[in-house]
Amino acid sequence: MAVSRNWVCPHCDRPQTIIDQQLSVKHHRLIILESKYTNPGITAIAMACSNLSCRELTLKVSFGEGEWRSGGEFVVPKAIHKFDLMPAFSFRAQPAYIPAALREDYEEACKIRDLSPKASATLARRCLQGMIRDFCGIAKATLDQEIKELRKKLDDRTAPSGVTHESLDAIDAVRKVGNIGAHMEKDVDLIVGIEPGEAQMLIGLIEMLFREWYVERHDRTNRLATITALAEEKKKTIEELKAGL
Ligand SMILES: [Zn+2]
Repeated sequence: MAVSRNWVCPHCDRPQTIIDQQLSVKHHRLIILESKYTNPGITAIAMACSNLSCRELTLKVSFGEGEWRSGGEFVVPKAIHKFDLMPAFSFRAQPAYIPAALREDYEEACKIRDLSPKASATLARRCLQGMIRDFCGIAKATLDQEIKELRKKLDDRTAPSGVTHESLDAIDAVRKVGNIGAHMEKDVDLIVGIEPGEAQMLIGLIEMLFREWYVERHDRTNRLATITALAEEKKKTIEELKAGL
């Protein structure tokens, strides 16, 4: 199984380029002759994070049909089943300045995405509603009404800074897929049937909005604080120079 050298650590979310010392790929042939698989084998992949404050291991195992390379090496070129062992589920670590309730709903939605897409989508919708209530200060009876109100605020130029037409268009695009839009007209806590891929689509939307709303607001505030501090320092220097004249 090929491993991409450009990698984002799932524990700390730090992008990095993997070097040989951080990576172990081992193929193992299963000595089982009586099965429907030809040369069944497993591949164990371990990756170490180079971020000094993380240094976690990521461990994945995959199962597939193997073959022998010309040198006699046994490899499993294509996975039939993949298993994430460490971490046991994949989600992007979100910064602590995003409200804990939203992060918890998001992480839980990721954890159960494959086991129970219906419950995962329910949590993702609740998280989306929580974001619109917290970040945009809009609370209505249904998520659908809240999104419509946010669109109105955006058109009236009264939406919070960071909320763009692009982010609203992304919400609307996801709403048009399968049953997601219909579910937004119901109570967010109601577990309703979904179509394949809907849970992942909602999770992707939440990750995008975390980034565009919370992370960018945090970065903007930090940049402003740096500029203000710099301006204060310059002002002080000028005053000191003037006093010295
Ligand atoms: Zn890491």
